[in-house]
Amino acid sequence: MSNVDWQGKRVTVAGLGVSGIPAARVLYGLGAVVTVVNDGDDERSRAQAAELEAQGIAVRLGDGDTLPTSTELVVTAPGWKPGKPLFAAAAEAGVPVWGDVELAWRLRGRDGREPAPWLAVTGTNGKTTTVRMLASILEAAGLRTAAVGNIGVSLLDAVLGEETYDVLAVELSSYQLHWAPSLRAHSAAVLNLAPDHLDWHGSMEAYAADKGRIYEGNRVACVYNAADPATEDLVRAADVEEGCRAIGFTLGTPGPSQLGVVDGILVDRAFVQNRQKQAQELAEVADVNPPAPHNIANALAAAALARAFGVEPAAVRDGLRAFRPDPHRIEHVADVDGVSYVDDSKATNTHAAEASLAAYDPIVWIAGGLAKGATFDELVTGCAKRLRGVVLMGADRALIREALTRHAPEVPVVDLDRTDTGAMSEAVREAARLARPGDTVLMAPACASMDMFVNYNKRGEAFADAVRARASESA
Ligand code: ADP
Repeated sequence: MSNVDWQGKRVTVAGLGVSGIPAARVLYGLGAVVTVVNDGDDERSRAQAAELEAQGIAVRLGDGDTLPTSTELVVTAPGWKPGKPLFAAAAEAGVPVWGDVELAWRLRGRDGREPAPWLAVTGTNGKTTTVRMLASILEAAGLRTAAVGNIGVSLLDAVLGEETYDVLAVELSSYQLHWAPSLRAHSAAVLNLAPDHLDWHGSMEAYAADKGRIYEGNRVACVYNAADPATEDLVRAADVEEGCRAIGFTLGTPGPSQLGVVDGILVDRAFVQNRQKQAQELAEVADVNPPAPHNIANALAAAALARAFGVEPAAVRDGLRAFRPDPHRIEHVADVDGVSYVDDSKATNTHAAEASLAAYDPIVWIAGGLAKGATFDELVTGCAKRLRGVVLMGADRALIREALTRHAPEVPVVDLDRTDTGAMSEAVREAARLARPGDTVLMAPACASMDMFVNYNKRGEAFADAVRARASESA
């Protein structure tokens, strides 16, 4: 369908939202007859619907499960679960379902310009950081590029907008990959694979299979994490173009066809002339910001993708030096009374929290929220010895409390049974009470935020506000 004649084509867009509204507008602009279906029928969606209807786009609110008759294509918001009746109806009627990424992929090059190749990144954690590092490296190499996908510029804007790109650094979630069957990246990386979003995918196997789609049809390199064999398994399972290489990254000494670390130097033993005998210096560990182990892994993955695209070593170094992390990712907020307060609100699953819990000792840990089907035994076992105390909040806090009772019964736990806006202030107050000078209070909830906050940004801001209020009281 890449050369689809959109004139008069009947397209159903599933979901009013950040991807649905722009998709509906673009498709309508191409001449399609567009109907948006949406589960919710609240004030906000009614206002959005009114705007779209004024432009000629039909909207059905409160009815996200019925496939409008004579639909020829469904374009879905990535978050819609595959088990929804709408998709069963589409399958029954033989109607294809595309996600936002698939739509963007199919619309590339419509204006006659040569489409920019995609360097794609997925993984349970580190996607945004890696894609931003990659974009920074590509920019340092003088290429016209953007970080797109879940971050920055939307994919639709990137492929249809005025701007011309040489290459795109694309962040893809497992949901987006699920709905993007024909995507073919230049090169792609799966950073790591740990249980997350299992309630959506149904099983770890289904989650891994969706992540693995990112390697399908790669032309130059499939980048995997040598410390996470599941990512290498996905490379093996992928059907790639002839000559496409498997490239590993490791925090240890790299083997041939790997990037790794030797004596504080990031080195490339993959994209060099004689990889059996030679390695190329790319950057120093100190060039990575912050130089925490998981972040060095992200830098190596970004470097591997850039090198696969032909970027010179000096640009890798310059791009890493220029990179600044986004907020709420292991962000130091303040020191108060000798205690350091760190906001890792973006640790929305156990795998991410594990990375930041490994970076501090001793820790007063603020955790809890929506567990999304996760279990906490492994996480708690791994950090039990470093915990000074724990403050729990949010809907699924009992799951963490039970794991603490099983594996760290001696660690004091404060259980906050409130979800109002003052809850985070109380959590910080309780954490301060448990902490001693030299400790780190780490808000790395290992859970999603939506039970108490609009998103993880708001949760991080609430934490930082509470810490700053304490700092000014104590000053
Ligand atoms: P994503 O876009 O995949 O959510 P981010 O770069 O925004 O990833 O980081 C999300 C969280 O994961 C942060 O809390 C960060 O501390 C943690 N993190 C980042 N990179 C990694 C990694 N390679 N392995 C484990 N955790 C990581």
